[in-house]
Amino acid sequence: MSDTDPKSKRLDFIREIITEDLAQGKHETSITRFPPEPNGYLHLGHAKSICLNFGLAEENAASGAKCHLRFDDTNPAKESEEYVASIKEDVAWLGFDWGEDLYFASDYFEFFYECAVHLIKEGLAYVDLSTLEELRGARGDVNTPGTPTPFREVSVEENLERFVAMREGKFQAGEAVLRAKIDLASSNMNLRDPVLYRVMHEHHHNTGDKWCLYPMYDFAHPLEDALEHITHSLCTLEFENHRPLYDWVIENCPVPSAPRQIEFARLNLTYTVLSKRKLLRLVEEGHVSGWDDPRMPTISGVRRRGYTKEAIQHFCHRIGLTKMNSRSDFALLEDSLRQNLNDVAPRRMAVLDPVKLVLVNYGEDQEEALEVVNNPAHQEEGSREVTLTRELWIERDDFMEDPPKKFFRLGPGRTVRLRGGYCITYVDHKNDESGKLTEVHCEIIPGTIGASPPEGIKCRTAIHWVSAKYAADAEIRLYDRLFVRQNPDKGKPDFIAELNPESLEVVEGAKVEPALATCEPGYICQFERIGYFCADNRDHVAGEKPVFNRSVGLRDSWNG
Ligand code: ATP
Ligand code: MG
Repeated sequence: MSDTDPKSKRLDFIREIITEDLAQGKHETSITRFPPEPNGYLHLGHAKSICLNFGLAEENAASGAKCHLRFDDTNPAKESEEYVASIKEDVAWLGFDWGEDLYFASDYFEFFYECAVHLIKEGLAYVDLSTLEELRGARGDVNTPGTPTPFREVSVEENLERFVAMREGKFQAGEAVLRAKIDLASSNMNLRDPVLYRVMHEHHHNTGDKWCLYPMYDFAHPLEDALEHITHSLCTLEFENHRPLYDWVIENCPVPSAPRQIEFARLNLTYTVLSKRKLLRLVEEGHVSGWDDPRMPTISGVRRRGYTKEAIQHFCHRIGLTKMNSRSDFALLEDSLRQNLNDVAPRRMAVLDPVKLVLVNYGEDQEEALEVVNNPAHQEEGSREVTLTRELWIERDDFMEDPPKKFFRLGPGRTVRLRGGYCITYVDHKNDESGKLTEVHCEIIPGTIGASPPEGIKCRTAIHWVSAKYAADAEIRLYDRLFVRQNPDKGKPDFIAELNPESLEVVEGAKVEPALATCEPGYICQFERIGYFCADNRDHVAGEKPVFNRSVGLRDSWNG
């Protein structure tokens, strides 16, 4: 089986470890988690983590495997309910089900606090009242060990008192922190008495004003995992250096289980940025219309653009899992979408740059319902009727006044087929004063529906069309790369300067077949010969205002 086959059985290093752990009886099954912080919308990088963690639960379902959805909501300053709701929606849309296993780290605040008290009692943590500046100065660097502050050797009793005072709100932000007592000389900076708790007088979306001290990620995360009996805690490579601290917390706190942290390379994509902080900036500064702007690499953005969960899952499978950071090609993501939509998207006809075509030997009131197949790749998708009338709209660039030999579309002396209908032969055309084409006149060749033209007439191509009488006007949004460079966030002063000024082109007055005017928002189809499009889930109004987003072209126009 090829490595692009979703059913490929070759195991990645994480699945190897887990399979081995289960075979050796270390665990009965795997319990994983997806732990987003609700401080932004999910992006495609998160999709990689979701497909991995929830994918493992599906693969090991026979032994009772599960994947938890856990909101890592330990920093109230940037978190909100809006983000919680969007994250749930996105995970569910990607096709995954957390069942009963929905958790909030903020529900464990009391337990984190008890663990901190435990560490203080064991002489393994102390309250440090140094200023932030003093703390920074005492850290040392790679070559110099850190220096102890006067608070390192304070008695357990005094530390307990101060920690209670922190909880009671007797300190302001920056006046006190709780630090682990580990090793100020460690070559791993994360072990130089890292901060476990800090004071923050902030309102929390879940716990309200109950707390004014909040745990740091490195302290809270292992405790969350252990409380939930997570067997394998999968995270990105940036946390490799934090693993000794993760293990230290597990070893020294009264926890009910010992999860194992395993790191993998994060997803990076060409021509975009995958960082909530940067995406938030794009939204806040108005460079895009919102988190779900179809140019955004957010799950809600690509969904609005017309991506399917199958395409995203397939893409995540194709990029695989490694320990090496790299940047995946956006074209690979687009290819995954094309592969999926080629199979499932019905074909429809739409003309983006319309010019009038008159069938001069067809009656003014003559009409014919033509049967057109919906998806030649899948006959079972059936067919539909489109109405032929004397006047049609065709694509402006399907006609050339003076065509070169290789141009098989319309021009003087040429015959083409109307998709699903007759072969038609050029008769005449009209230009306006500026020389711009205004009308093409053709004759139908009777008897050519579903049949070849008479001997001696070459008809090499079929063009798409819509009836001028029945077509609806539509707005079409053509999206392009959001950034002009492959790596907009690497070594540049500001990634905003790399935005592509032509990432959105709005086409007004496109002509679409009637079925497209009445489809529901979110409807996905192929505009024949143009690309895949999706009815916009915000602005498209069935029967009133058709608005379509280009999801992806038919061919990769970037890589030739
Ligand atoms: P960002 O850097 O965009 O702010 P984050 O890591 O801070 O992302 P979290 O909400 O903490 O966002 O992430 C939830 C989970 O998603 C984590 O387990 C994290 O490792 C994973 N994740 C985040 N970004 C990526 C990525 N680009 N590729 C793979 N996994 C990712
Ligand atoms: Mg984070």
